[in-house]
Amino acid sequence: MLATGRQKHERMRDGRVVYIGAERVDDVTAHPAFRRGAETVAALYDLKADPAQADLFAYEENGERYALQWLRCRTRDDLARRMRALRATAEATYGFIGRSPEQVAGLITGLAMNPSVLENLRAGFGENLLRFYERARRDDLYLCFAVTPPTGMRATELFPGQERDDPNLQVIAEDDTGVTVSGMKMLATSAVYADEILIGNLTPIAEKFKAEAITAALPLNAPGLTLWSRQPYAQPVKQEADYPLSYRFDETDSVLVCDRVRIPWERVFLHNDAVMSRRIYTETPANCYQNHHSNIRFWVKLGLIVGLASRITLANGIDKVPAVREVLGRFAALEATIGGLVQGQIEAFEEWPKGYATPNRRIMYAALNWCQEHHTEIVDMLRTLLGGIPLLMPASIDVMADDALRSTFERWWKTPSIEALERYKLYKLAWDIVGSEFAGRHMLYEKFYAGNSLIVRNQSDREAPWERFHGIVDGLLQGVESPKPPERK
Ligand SMILES: Cc1cc2nc3c(=O)[nH]c(=O)nc-3n(C[C@H](O)[C@H](O)[C@H](O)COP(=O)(O)OP(=O)(O)OC[C@H]3O[C@@H](n4cnc5c(N)ncnc54)[C@H](O)[C@@H]3O)c2cc1C
Repeated sequence: MLATGRQKHERMRDGRVVYIGAERVDDVTAHPAFRRGAETVAALYDLKADPAQADLFAYEENGERYALQWLRCRTRDDLARRMRALRATAEATYGFIGRSPEQVAGLITGLAMNPSVLENLRAGFGENLLRFYERARRDDLYLCFAVTPPTGMRATELFPGQERDDPNLQVIAEDDTGVTVSGMKMLATSAVYADEILIGNLTPIAEKFKAEAITAALPLNAPGLTLWSRQPYAQPVKQEADYPLSYRFDETDSVLVCDRVRIPWERVFLHNDAVMSRRIYTETPANCYQNHHSNIRFWVKLGLIVGLASRITLANGIDKVPAVREVLGRFAALEATIGGLVQGQIEAFEEWPKGYATPNRRIMYAALNWCQEHHTEIVDMLRTLLGGIPLLMPASIDVMADDALRSTFERWWKTPSIEALERYKLYKLAWDIVGSEFAGRHMLYEKFYAGNSLIVRNQSDREAPWERFHGIVDGLLQGVESPKPPERK
Protein backbone atom coordinates (compact mmCIF):
# COMPACT_ATOMS: atom_id res chain seq x y z
CA MET A 1 0.00 0.00 0.00
CA LEU A 2 1.43 3.41 -0.90
CA ALA A 3 1.66 5.74 2.09
CA THR A 4 -0.05 9.14 1.95
CA GLY A 5 1.61 12.46 2.69
CA ARG A 6 -0.20 12.69 6.00
CA GLN A 7 1.06 9.25 7.06
CA LYS A 8 4.59 10.13 6.01
CA HIS A 9 4.37 13.46 7.84
CA GLU A 10 3.44 11.61 11.05
CA ARG A 11 6.33 9.18 10.63
CA MET A 12 8.81 12.07 10.64
CA ARG A 13 7.62 12.95 14.14
CA ASP A 14 9.07 9.83 15.72
CA GLY A 15 11.33 11.44 18.31
CA ARG A 16 14.50 11.46 16.21
CA VAL A 17 17.14 13.87 17.46
CA VAL A 18 18.67 16.39 15.06
CA TYR A 19 21.23 19.05 15.99
CA ILE A 20 21.67 22.34 14.15
CA GLY A 21 24.85 23.43 15.85
CA ALA A 22 24.02 23.32 19.56
CA GLU A 23 20.28 23.60 18.95
CA ARG A 24 18.39 20.35 19.46
CA VAL A 25 15.43 19.76 17.14
CA ASP A 26 12.87 17.22 18.34
CA ASP A 27 10.19 17.68 15.67
CA VAL A 28 11.49 18.27 12.15
CA THR A 29 8.00 18.88 10.77
CA ALA A 30 7.57 21.93 13.01
CA HIS A 31 11.05 23.49 12.91
CA PRO A 32 11.57 26.38 10.42
CA ALA A 33 14.78 24.78 9.14
CA PHE A 34 13.05 21.59 8.04
CA ARG A 35 9.31 22.26 7.94
CA ARG A 36 9.12 23.10 4.25
CA GLY A 37 11.32 20.19 3.26
CA ALA A 38 9.01 17.92 5.27
CA GLU A 39 6.07 19.34 3.33
CA THR A 40 7.87 18.66 0.04
CA VAL A 41 8.43 15.03 1.08
CA ALA A 42 4.78 14.66 2.15
CA ALA A 43 3.66 16.12 -1.19
CA LEU A 44 5.77 13.53 -3.00
CA TYR A 45 3.99 10.77 -1.10
CA ASP A 46 0.60 12.29 -1.92
CA LEU A 47 1.51 12.53 -5.59
CA LYS A 48 2.27 8.81 -5.72
CA ALA A 49 -0.62 7.68 -3.52
CA ASP A 50 -3.18 9.41 -5.75
CA PRO A 51 -5.38 6.55 -7.09
CA ALA A 52 -5.66 8.38 -10.42
CA GLN A 53 -1.87 8.01 -10.82
CA ALA A 54 -1.70 4.35 -9.83
CA ASP A 55 -0.65 3.16 -13.29
CA LEU A 56 2.23 5.60 -13.35
CA PHE A 57 3.59 5.08 -9.85
CA ALA A 58 2.57 1.61 -8.64
CA TYR A 59 2.78 -2.07 -9.55
CA GLU A 60 0.95 -5.11 -8.21
CA GLU A 61 2.43 -8.31 -6.91
CA ASN A 62 0.42 -11.09 -5.22
CA GLY A 63 -2.57 -8.76 -4.91
CA GLU A 64 -0.56 -6.05 -3.11
CA ARG A 65 0.23 -2.63 -4.54
CA TYR A 66 3.75 -1.18 -4.16
CA ALA A 67 5.57 1.97 -5.33
CA LEU A 68 7.50 1.28 -8.54
CA GLN A 69 10.95 1.98 -7.11
CA TRP A 70 10.62 -1.40 -5.37
CA LEU A 71 10.02 -3.34 -8.61
CA ARG A 72 12.53 -6.12 -9.25
CA CYS A 73 12.38 -5.84 -13.03
CA ARG A 74 12.19 -8.95 -15.20
CA THR A 75 11.87 -7.40 -18.66
CA ARG A 76 12.81 -4.34 -20.68
CA ASP A 77 9.22 -3.12 -20.31
CA ASP A 78 9.49 -3.37 -16.51
CA LEU A 79 12.63 -1.22 -16.64
CA ALA A 80 10.92 1.33 -18.89
CA ARG A 81 7.91 1.46 -16.57
CA ARG A 82 10.08 1.87 -13.49
CA MET A 83 12.05 4.63 -15.25
CA ARG A 84 8.85 6.55 -16.11
CA ALA A 85 7.80 6.48 -12.44
CA LEU A 86 11.24 7.62 -11.25
CA ARG A 87 11.25 10.39 -13.83
CA ALA A 88 7.80 11.62 -12.82
CA THR A 89 8.78 11.85 -9.14
CA ALA A 90 12.06 13.59 -10.03
CA GLU A 91 10.04 16.07 -12.11
CA ALA A 92 8.00 16.95 -9.02
CA THR A 93 11.19 18.29 -7.41
CA TYR A 94 12.90 19.37 -10.66
CA GLY A 95 15.74 16.92 -10.00
CA PHE A 96 16.87 18.75 -6.86
CA ILE A 97 16.16 15.99 -4.34
CA GLY A 98 18.97 13.52 -4.96
CA ARG A 99 18.18 11.09 -2.17
CA SER A 100 14.45 11.06 -2.74
CA PRO A 101 12.39 8.06 -1.52
CA GLU A 102 13.18 6.32 -4.83
CA GLN A 103 16.96 6.40 -4.44
CA VAL A 104 18.17 4.13 -1.64
CA ALA A 105 15.08 2.00 -2.33
CA GLY A 106 16.88 1.08 -5.57
CA LEU A 107 19.87 -0.18 -3.60
CA ILE A 108 17.74 -2.40 -1.34
CA THR A 109 15.72 -3.63 -4.34
CA GLY A 110 18.96 -4.54 -6.13
CA LEU A 111 20.20 -6.47 -3.08
CA ALA A 112 16.84 -8.26 -2.92
CA MET A 113 17.40 -9.50 -6.49
CA ASN A 114 20.32 -11.62 -5.33
CA PRO A 115 20.18 -12.10 -1.54
CA SER A 116 22.30 -15.26 -1.84
CA VAL A 117 25.35 -12.96 -1.97
CA LEU A 118 24.56 -12.09 1.67
CA GLU A 119 23.25 -15.53 2.64
CA ASN A 120 26.57 -17.05 1.51
CA LEU A 121 28.42 -14.83 3.98
CA ARG A 122 26.41 -16.01 6.96
CA ALA A 123 23.19 -18.01 7.09
CA GLY A 124 20.31 -15.68 7.86
CA PHE A 125 21.78 -12.44 6.45
CA GLY A 126 20.12 -12.89 3.06
CA GLU A 127 16.81 -13.70 4.75
CA ASN A 128 17.16 -10.59 6.94
CA LEU A 129 17.61 -8.49 3.83
CA LEU A 130 14.61 -10.04 2.08
CA ARG A 131 12.42 -9.50 5.15
CA PHE A 132 13.59 -5.89 5.32
CA TYR A 133 12.86 -5.41 1.61
CA GLU A 134 9.35 -6.82 2.08
CA ARG A 135 8.64 -4.54 5.03
CA ALA A 136 10.14 -1.48 3.34
CA ARG A 137 8.04 -1.87 0.21
CA ARG A 138 4.90 -2.83 2.16
CA ASP A 139 5.18 0.27 4.38
CA ASP A 140 6.53 2.42 1.53
CA LEU A 141 9.51 3.47 3.65
CA TYR A 142 11.76 6.38 2.86
CA LEU A 143 15.30 5.05 3.22
CA CYS A 144 18.57 6.96 3.34
CA PHE A 145 22.12 5.73 3.82
CA ALA A 146 25.46 6.64 5.38
CA VAL A 147 28.16 4.53 3.79
CA THR A 148 31.28 6.71 3.93
CA PRO A 149 33.77 7.00 6.78
CA PRO A 150 34.77 10.68 6.93
CA THR A 151 38.11 11.60 5.36
CA GLY A 152 40.83 11.67 7.97
CA MET A 153 39.36 8.60 9.67
CA ARG A 154 39.67 5.98 6.94
CA ALA A 155 41.42 2.64 7.16
CA THR A 156 45.06 3.63 7.37
CA GLU A 157 46.41 0.72 5.31
CA LEU A 158 44.52 2.07 2.33
CA PHE A 159 44.82 5.76 3.08
CA PRO A 160 48.26 6.31 4.66
CA GLY A 161 48.52 9.33 6.94
CA GLN A 162 44.83 9.40 7.84
CA GLU A 163 45.14 7.72 11.23
CA ARG A 164 43.13 9.07 14.14
CA ASP A 165 42.37 7.74 17.57
CA ASP A 166 38.61 8.00 17.29
CA PRO A 167 36.93 5.09 15.64
CA ASN A 168 34.73 5.10 12.58
CA LEU A 169 31.27 3.70 13.03
CA GLN A 170 31.89 0.11 14.09
CA VAL A 171 30.70 -2.78 16.21
CA ILE A 172 31.95 -2.42 19.78
CA ALA A 173 30.05 -5.36 21.29
CA GLU A 174 27.90 -8.29 20.22
CA ASP A 175 25.82 -10.98 21.92
CA ASP A 176 23.03 -13.42 21.07
CA THR A 177 20.51 -10.66 20.47
CA GLY A 178 22.52 -8.35 18.23
CA VAL A 179 25.38 -5.87 17.98
CA THR A 180 26.17 -2.49 19.54
CA VAL A 181 27.71 0.19 17.31
CA SER A 182 29.45 3.48 18.06
CA GLY A 183 31.11 6.09 15.88
CA MET A 184 30.24 8.40 13.01
CA LYS A 185 29.57 8.14 9.31
CA MET A 186 29.01 10.67 6.52
CA LEU A 187 26.90 12.01 4.91
CA ALA A 188 23.32 11.09 5.61
CA THR A 189 21.45 13.13 3.03
CA SER A 190 17.70 13.30 3.73
CA ALA A 191 18.06 11.44 7.06
CA VAL A 192 16.11 14.26 8.69
CA TYR A 193 13.05 13.16 6.65
CA ALA A 194 13.65 9.46 6.01
CA ASP A 195 12.22 6.54 8.00
CA GLU A 196 15.30 4.34 8.28
CA ILE A 197 19.00 4.56 7.56
CA LEU A 198 21.26 1.94 6.02
CA ILE A 199 24.81 1.86 7.38
CA GLY A 200 27.55 0.12 5.41
CA ASN A 201 30.51 0.87 3.16
CA LEU A 202 30.84 2.07 -0.40
CA THR A 203 34.53 2.86 0.10
CA PRO A 204 37.19 0.18 0.68
CA ILE A 205 38.11 -0.75 4.24
CA ALA A 206 41.10 -2.78 5.35
CA GLU A 207 40.63 -6.29 6.77
CA LYS A 208 41.95 -5.27 10.20
CA PHE A 209 39.05 -2.79 10.44
CA LYS A 210 36.42 -5.43 9.71
CA ALA A 211 34.34 -4.31 12.71
CA GLU A 212 33.51 -1.28 10.52
CA ALA A 213 32.04 -3.56 7.86
CA ILE A 214 28.73 -3.73 9.72
CA THR A 215 25.87 -3.34 7.23
CA ALA A 216 22.44 -2.91 8.77
CA ALA A 217 19.27 -0.83 8.80
CA LEU A 218 18.37 1.39 11.73
CA PRO A 219 15.27 3.41 12.59
CA LEU A 220 16.22 7.07 12.82
CA ASN A 221 14.81 7.32 16.33
CA ALA A 222 17.03 4.52 17.67
CA PRO A 223 18.30 5.38 21.19
CA GLY A 224 21.82 6.80 20.97
CA LEU A 225 21.46 7.88 17.31
CA THR A 226 21.77 11.61 16.55
CA LEU A 227 21.95 13.55 13.30
CA TRP A 228 24.31 16.56 13.12
CA SER A 229 22.95 18.76 10.37
CA ARG A 230 24.96 21.14 8.22
CA GLN A 231 23.62 24.70 7.94
CA PRO A 232 20.02 24.39 6.65
CA TYR A 233 19.13 26.65 3.72
CA ALA A 234 15.37 27.15 4.06
CA GLN A 235 15.31 28.78 7.48
CA PRO A 236 16.66 32.25 6.59
CA VAL A 237 14.45 32.57 3.47
CA LYS A 238 11.63 35.05 4.09
CA GLN A 239 9.90 34.90 0.71
CA GLU A 240 9.77 31.90 -1.62
CA ALA A 241 10.55 34.12 -4.62
CA ASP A 242 13.88 35.17 -3.03
CA TYR A 243 15.32 31.61 -3.04
CA PRO A 244 12.73 29.32 -4.64
CA LEU A 245 14.83 26.16 -4.51
CA SER A 246 16.33 26.68 -1.03
CA TYR A 247 12.82 27.34 0.23
CA ARG A 248 11.31 24.01 -0.83
CA PHE A 249 14.02 21.58 -1.88
CA ASP A 250 16.73 21.50 0.80
CA GLU A 251 17.03 17.73 1.22
CA THR A 252 19.49 18.27 4.14
CA ASP A 253 22.79 16.51 4.89
CA SER A 254 23.74 15.24 8.34
CA VAL A 255 26.56 13.36 9.95
CA LEU A 256 25.28 10.18 11.56
CA VAL A 257 26.54 9.85 15.15
CA CYS A 258 25.91 6.60 17.02
CA ASP A 259 26.65 6.29 20.71
CA ARG A 260 26.21 2.65 21.76
CA VAL A 261 23.28 2.02 19.43
CA ARG A 262 21.80 -1.49 19.68
CA ILE A 263 20.99 -3.33 16.44
CA PRO A 264 19.13 -6.66 16.69
CA TRP A 265 20.48 -9.45 14.45
CA GLU A 266 17.37 -9.43 12.26
CA ARG A 267 18.39 -5.97 11.04
CA VAL A 268 21.97 -7.00 10.20
CA PHE A 269 22.85 -7.89 6.60
CA LEU A 270 26.64 -8.26 6.87
CA HIS A 271 29.18 -8.35 9.69
CA ASN A 272 32.98 -8.65 9.98
CA ASP A 273 33.69 -8.92 6.24
CA ALA A 274 35.68 -5.92 5.04
CA VAL A 275 36.00 -6.94 1.40
CA MET A 276 32.39 -7.98 0.87
CA SER A 277 30.97 -4.95 2.68
CA ARG A 278 31.70 -3.01 -0.50
CA ARG A 279 31.32 -5.77 -3.09
CA ILE A 280 27.74 -6.68 -2.20
CA TYR A 281 26.64 -3.57 -4.09
CA THR A 282 28.33 -4.56 -7.33
CA GLU A 283 27.82 -8.33 -7.14
CA THR A 284 24.08 -7.57 -7.06
CA PRO A 285 22.23 -4.90 -9.08
CA ALA A 286 22.14 -2.66 -5.95
CA ASN A 287 24.62 -0.04 -7.17
CA CYS A 288 23.13 -0.07 -10.65
CA TYR A 289 19.47 0.24 -9.62
CA GLN A 290 20.31 3.04 -7.20
CA ASN A 291 22.41 5.09 -9.59
CA HIS A 292 20.12 4.53 -12.57
CA HIS A 293 17.79 6.75 -10.53
CA SER A 294 20.59 9.33 -10.16
CA ASN A 295 20.97 9.45 -13.93
CA ILE A 296 17.21 9.93 -14.43
CA ARG A 297 17.14 12.68 -11.81
CA PHE A 298 20.08 14.46 -13.47
CA TRP A 299 18.24 14.30 -16.81
CA VAL A 300 15.24 16.03 -15.18
CA LYS A 301 17.44 18.66 -13.55
CA LEU A 302 19.12 19.42 -16.86
CA GLY A 303 15.68 19.95 -18.41
CA LEU A 304 15.09 22.78 -15.94
CA ILE A 305 18.53 24.29 -16.50
CA VAL A 306 18.18 24.23 -20.29
CA GLY A 307 14.70 25.77 -20.12
CA LEU A 308 16.00 28.43 -17.78
CA ALA A 309 18.94 29.26 -20.05
CA SER A 310 16.54 29.83 -22.93
CA ARG A 311 14.17 31.93 -20.79
CA ILE A 312 17.10 34.11 -19.68
CA THR A 313 18.04 34.85 -23.29
CA LEU A 314 14.39 35.75 -24.02
CA ALA A 315 14.31 38.07 -20.99
CA ASN A 316 17.48 39.77 -22.22
CA GLY A 317 16.26 40.02 -25.80
CA ILE A 318 19.32 38.15 -27.10
CA ASP A 319 17.57 34.94 -28.09
CA LYS A 320 17.95 35.53 -31.83
CA VAL A 321 21.66 36.34 -31.79
CA PRO A 322 23.42 33.50 -33.72
CA ALA A 323 26.20 33.15 -31.14
CA VAL A 324 23.58 32.83 -28.37
CA ARG A 325 21.65 30.24 -30.38
CA GLU A 326 24.84 28.22 -30.61
CA VAL A 327 25.10 28.23 -26.81
CA LEU A 328 21.45 27.18 -26.53
CA GLY A 329 22.06 24.46 -29.10
CA ARG A 330 24.86 23.16 -26.91
CA PHE A 331 22.58 23.15 -23.85
CA ALA A 332 19.97 21.23 -25.84
CA ALA A 333 22.56 18.73 -27.06
CA LEU A 334 23.75 18.09 -23.52
CA GLU A 335 20.20 17.46 -22.30
CA ALA A 336 19.59 15.05 -25.17
CA THR A 337 22.84 13.24 -24.38
CA ILE A 338 21.87 12.35 -20.82
CA GLY A 339 18.39 11.39 -22.06
CA GLY A 340 20.03 9.03 -24.55
CA LEU A 341 22.29 7.59 -21.87
CA VAL A 342 19.27 6.80 -19.68
CA GLN A 343 17.26 5.26 -22.54
CA GLY A 344 20.32 3.34 -23.68
CA GLN A 345 20.63 1.64 -20.29
CA ILE A 346 17.15 0.25 -20.79
CA GLU A 347 17.47 -0.69 -24.47
CA ALA A 348 20.75 -2.51 -23.77
CA PHE A 349 19.57 -4.00 -20.47
CA GLU A 350 21.29 -7.04 -18.99
CA GLU A 351 19.59 -10.30 -18.12
CA TRP A 352 21.30 -10.33 -14.75
CA PRO A 353 20.97 -11.78 -12.19
CA LYS A 354 19.21 -14.87 -13.56
CA GLY A 355 15.55 -14.17 -14.22
CA TYR A 356 15.87 -10.41 -13.72
CA ALA A 357 16.54 -7.34 -15.85
CA THR A 358 19.10 -4.69 -14.90
CA PRO A 359 19.93 -1.41 -16.65
CA ASN A 360 23.11 -1.78 -18.68
CA ARG A 361 25.89 -1.35 -16.13
CA ARG A 362 28.55 0.06 -18.42
CA ILE A 363 26.19 2.73 -19.74
CA MET A 364 24.94 3.51 -16.23
CA TYR A 365 28.49 4.04 -14.94
CA ALA A 366 29.38 6.02 -18.08
CA ALA A 367 26.37 8.26 -17.41
CA LEU A 368 27.45 8.73 -13.78
CA ASN A 369 30.88 9.77 -14.99
CA TRP A 370 29.37 12.05 -17.66
CA CYS A 371 27.20 13.83 -15.08
CA GLN A 372 30.10 14.20 -12.66
CA GLU A 373 32.32 15.64 -15.42
CA HIS A 374 29.73 18.01 -16.90
CA HIS A 375 27.68 19.46 -14.06
CA THR A 376 30.13 22.24 -13.14
CA GLU A 377 30.56 23.18 -16.79
CA ILE A 378 26.80 23.26 -17.41
CA VAL A 379 26.20 25.46 -14.37
CA ASP A 380 29.00 27.76 -15.50
CA MET A 381 27.39 28.06 -18.95
CA LEU A 382 24.21 29.23 -17.21
CA ARG A 383 26.17 31.62 -14.99
CA THR A 384 27.81 33.15 -18.05
CA LEU A 385 24.42 33.77 -19.68
CA LEU A 386 23.19 35.55 -16.53
CA GLY A 387 25.86 38.25 -16.56
CA GLY A 388 25.66 40.47 -13.49
CA ILE A 389 21.84 40.70 -13.49
CA PRO A 390 21.26 38.48 -10.40
CA LEU A 391 23.03 41.16 -8.36
CA LEU A 392 20.83 43.89 -9.85
CA MET A 393 17.90 42.41 -7.98
CA PRO A 394 16.81 43.90 -4.64
CA ALA A 395 17.57 41.88 -1.52
CA SER A 396 14.00 40.67 -1.22
CA ILE A 397 10.78 40.69 -3.15
CA ASP A 398 9.16 42.31 -0.10
CA VAL A 399 9.66 45.59 -2.05
CA MET A 400 6.36 44.61 -3.67
CA ALA A 401 4.59 45.16 -0.36
CA ASP A 402 5.58 48.84 -0.25
CA ASP A 403 3.62 51.06 -2.65
CA ALA A 404 6.41 53.54 -3.40
CA LEU A 405 9.16 50.92 -3.78
CA ARG A 406 6.88 48.70 -5.83
CA SER A 407 6.15 51.48 -8.27
CA THR A 408 9.86 52.20 -8.83
CA PHE A 409 10.70 48.51 -9.05
CA GLU A 410 7.97 47.80 -11.58
CA ARG A 411 8.97 50.81 -13.68
CA TRP A 412 12.74 50.33 -13.90
CA TRP A 413 13.41 46.65 -13.37
CA LYS A 414 11.34 45.44 -16.32
CA THR A 415 12.67 44.87 -19.84
CA PRO A 416 10.71 45.14 -23.10
CA SER A 417 10.11 41.38 -22.93
CA ILE A 418 9.46 40.75 -19.22
CA GLU A 419 7.80 42.45 -16.24
CA ALA A 420 9.95 43.30 -13.20
CA LEU A 421 8.37 40.72 -10.89
CA GLU A 422 8.70 37.88 -13.40
CA ARG A 423 12.27 38.93 -14.13
CA TYR A 424 13.05 38.89 -10.42
CA LYS A 425 11.66 35.38 -10.01
CA LEU A 426 13.52 34.11 -13.06
CA TYR A 427 16.89 35.46 -11.97
CA LYS A 428 16.46 34.37 -8.35
CA LEU A 429 15.70 30.86 -9.54
CA ALA A 430 18.87 30.98 -11.62
CA TRP A 431 20.83 32.32 -8.62
CA ASP A 432 19.68 29.35 -6.56
CA ILE A 433 21.35 27.16 -9.20
CA VAL A 434 24.57 29.12 -9.75
CA GLY A 435 25.27 31.26 -6.70
CA SER A 436 23.44 30.64 -3.43
CA GLU A 437 24.51 28.30 -0.62
CA PHE A 438 21.97 25.84 -1.97
CA ALA A 439 23.69 26.10 -5.35
CA GLY A 440 27.13 25.54 -3.79
CA ARG A 441 25.88 22.45 -2.03
CA HIS A 442 24.56 21.05 -5.30
CA MET A 443 27.95 21.61 -6.93
CA LEU A 444 29.41 19.33 -4.24
CA TYR A 445 26.54 16.89 -4.41
CA GLU A 446 26.90 16.27 -8.14
CA LYS A 447 30.65 15.80 -7.71
CA PHE A 448 30.52 13.40 -4.79
CA TYR A 449 27.18 11.70 -4.20
CA ALA A 450 28.35 8.49 -5.86
CA GLY A 451 31.88 8.76 -4.49
CA ASN A 452 34.83 10.78 -5.75
CA SER A 453 35.83 10.53 -9.41
CA LEU A 454 38.37 7.79 -8.66
CA ILE A 455 35.60 5.58 -7.32
CA VAL A 456 33.18 6.41 -10.14
CA ARG A 457 35.74 5.75 -12.88
CA ASN A 458 36.93 2.62 -11.14
CA GLN A 459 33.45 1.20 -11.75
CA SER A 460 33.78 1.80 -15.50
CA ASP A 461 37.27 0.30 -15.43
CA ARG A 462 35.97 -2.81 -13.63
CA GLU A 463 33.07 -3.36 -16.02
CA ALA A 464 35.00 -2.68 -19.24
CA PRO A 465 35.55 -5.64 -21.62
CA TRP A 466 39.28 -5.09 -21.78
CA GLU A 467 39.92 -8.42 -23.56
CA ARG A 468 37.57 -7.40 -26.36
CA PHE A 469 39.30 -4.02 -26.65
CA HIS A 470 42.72 -5.70 -26.66
CA GLY A 471 41.45 -8.08 -29.32
CA ILE A 472 40.59 -5.15 -31.58
CA VAL A 473 44.11 -3.78 -31.26
CA ASP A 474 45.68 -7.18 -31.70
CA GLY A 475 43.49 -7.92 -34.72
CA LEU A 476 44.59 -4.73 -36.43
CA LEU A 477 48.25 -5.27 -35.62
CA GLN A 478 48.17 -8.85 -36.89
CA GLY A 479 47.29 -7.57 -40.33
CA VAL A 480 49.98 -4.89 -40.39
CA GLU A 481 52.80 -5.79 -42.77
CA SER A 482 56.34 -5.27 -41.52
CA PRO A 483 59.53 -5.38 -43.62
CA LYS A 484 61.10 -8.84 -43.73
CA PRO A 485 64.62 -9.05 -42.35
CA PRO A 486 67.28 -9.22 -45.14
CA GLU A 487 68.31 -12.75 -46.08
CA ARG A 488 71.66 -13.80 -44.63
CA LYS A 489 74.29 -14.64 -47.18
C1 LIG B 1 26.19 16.93 -0.82
C2 LIG B 1 26.67 15.55 -0.52
C3 LIG B 1 25.76 14.56 -0.19
C4 LIG B 1 26.20 13.29 0.12
N1 LIG B 1 25.28 12.33 0.46
C5 LIG B 1 25.71 11.14 0.90
C6 LIG B 1 24.79 10.15 1.36
O1 LIG B 1 23.57 10.34 1.29
N2 LIG B 1 25.29 9.01 1.89
C7 LIG B 1 26.64 8.76 1.95
O2 LIG B 1 27.03 7.71 2.45
N3 LIG B 1 27.53 9.66 1.50
C8 LIG B 1 27.10 10.83 0.99
N4 LIG B 1 28.00 11.75 0.55
C9 LIG B 1 29.41 11.49 0.84
C10 LIG B 1 30.09 10.96 -0.35
O3 LIG B 1 29.93 9.57 -0.36
C11 LIG B 1 31.54 11.37 -0.17
O4 LIG B 1 31.60 12.77 -0.21
C12 LIG B 1 32.34 10.79 -1.26
O5 LIG B 1 32.47 9.40 -1.08
C13 LIG B 1 33.71 11.41 -1.35
O6 LIG B 1 34.36 11.34 -0.10
P1 LIG B 1 34.98 12.63 0.54
O7 LIG B 1 33.95 13.69 0.54
O8 LIG B 1 35.59 12.26 1.83
O9 LIG B 1 36.11 13.09 -0.48
P2 LIG B 1 37.43 12.33 -0.83
O10 LIG B 1 37.19 10.94 -1.25
O11 LIG B 1 38.42 12.51 0.28
O12 LIG B 1 37.89 13.14 -2.08
C14 LIG B 1 38.29 14.51 -1.98
C15 LIG B 1 39.28 14.79 -3.10
O13 LIG B 1 40.47 14.03 -2.90
C16 LIG B 1 40.74 13.26 -4.05
N5 LIG B 1 41.31 11.99 -3.63
C17 LIG B 1 40.86 11.20 -2.63
N6 LIG B 1 41.63 10.10 -2.54
C18 LIG B 1 42.57 10.20 -3.49
C19 LIG B 1 43.64 9.36 -3.90
N7 LIG B 1 43.92 8.20 -3.31
N8 LIG B 1 44.41 9.80 -4.93
C20 LIG B 1 44.16 10.98 -5.56
N9 LIG B 1 43.14 11.81 -5.19
C21 LIG B 1 42.37 11.42 -4.19
C22 LIG B 1 39.37 13.06 -4.72
O14 LIG B 1 39.47 12.78 -6.09
C23 LIG B 1 38.71 14.39 -4.44
O15 LIG B 1 39.08 15.33 -5.41
C24 LIG B 1 27.58 13.01 0.15
C25 LIG B 1 28.50 13.99 -0.19
C26 LIG B 1 28.05 15.25 -0.55
C27 LIG B 1 29.07 16.27 -0.92
